[in-house]
Amino acid sequence: MKTFTYRTATEAAGGLEPGATFLAGGTNLVDLMKLGVATPDVLVDVTRLGLGEVTGLPEGGLRVGAGVRNSDLAAHPLVRRDFPVLSQALLAGASGQLRNMATTGGNLLQRTRCRYFMDPTTPCNKRRPGSGCPAREGDHRDLAILGARDDCVATHPSDMAVALAALGAVVNTSARAIPLAELYTDEAPDVDTVLDHGELITSVDVPPVNGRQAYRKVRDRASYAFAVASVAAALEVADGRVTDVRLALGAVAHKPWRALIAEETLRGRPATRESFLAAADAELAAAAPLRDNAFKVPLTRNLVASVLEDLA
Ligand SMILES: Cc1cc2nc3c(=O)[nH]c(=O)nc-3n(C[C@H](O)[C@H](O)[C@H](O)COP(=O)(O)OP(=O)(O)OC[C@H]3O[C@@H](n4cnc5c(N)ncnc54)[C@H](O)[C@@H]3O)c2cc1C
Ligand code: SF4
Repeated sequence: MKTFTYRTATEAAGGLEPGATFLAGGTNLVDLMKLGVATPDVLVDVTRLGLGEVTGLPEGGLRVGAGVRNSDLAAHPLVRRDFPVLSQALLAGASGQLRNMATTGGNLLQRTRCRYFMDPTTPCNKRRPGSGCPAREGDHRDLAILGARDDCVATHPSDMAVALAALGAVVNTSARAIPLAELYTDEAPDVDTVLDHGELITSVDVPPVNGRQAYRKVRDRASYAFAVASVAAALEVADGRVTDVRLALGAVAHKPWRALIAEETLRGRPATRESFLAAADAELAAAAPLRDNAFKVPLTRNLVASVLEDLA
């Protein structure tokens, strides 16, 4: 591993010199450093900034400090009572030991699990701009079917972020408030988010939501595996019709994919499997799968319908 210096951040004001990066739980960053994918000169530890609180907001939502550990957030009584989709998404991720270390801010900013990105001996536009995208013709089984660029078909690996996308969360930083839907960018393969260098995530606001909620993840193993596809949903039904719905898809795009077309298709429609499949079809009409991941289209379609049917 490349040598680096370490210091502890003393205030949540953001700002970093070139070559420095924030360190939270380290469960992604340190792995990438060991692989030679991340090569910071300075690590600035943000885990002692007092950002580890979950507080209720006056209008009924939650403010989650960026330093709240994934285990603590999943187990928090307010989260379990009001945002079960978030708790379920967190518990579907990684392992108990990892969740004990991983933080809210770090989870949002974890990098893709594309195998070429994690292997510095191969080309990869995300790691080395302009070097190429071997995944497009190579191993892309787990990669994007929606919204991908020609030069990068990576997916975002977080489960938690999918639930937060469905919930319409807002990310607070040392500089501004950013709707989660606008945090991730596809502006260039090597740029994951709109955050500036040294911009610190301080908390995430989760507004209240109507209806019943669920997170479901399909993966190759029952535990300790990233999603092949996932769905986070909140559904409210009255007199057999959908009155409110929030839907986000995971492991299908470079970001947690808020399924706004499906939501719009569903509002006011009968809460039936037929409507749910039609909504999934409307969202997935734009899917552009590659040679080995076309199976994700019917998988996601069925996942959406079965989660919504269970909630109806
Ligand atoms: C074996 C394994 C299996 C896993 N399985 C899953 C899974 O199934 N689902 C899933 O969702 N995740 C999974 N993960 C990923 C895990 O959830 C992430 O590694 C973790 O959430 C990252 O959080 P962290 O606090 O450790 O971040 P770090 O590794 O410390 O940091 C990650 C990035 O975020 C930046 N950062 C951290 N905090 C801040 C902040 N406050 N402001 C600005 N930047 C910040 C860092 O600079 C770094 O770039 C897995 C990880 C491993 C190792
Ligand atoms: S999909 Fe993106 S991360 Fe993967 S090899 Fe291509 S450019 Fe790199």
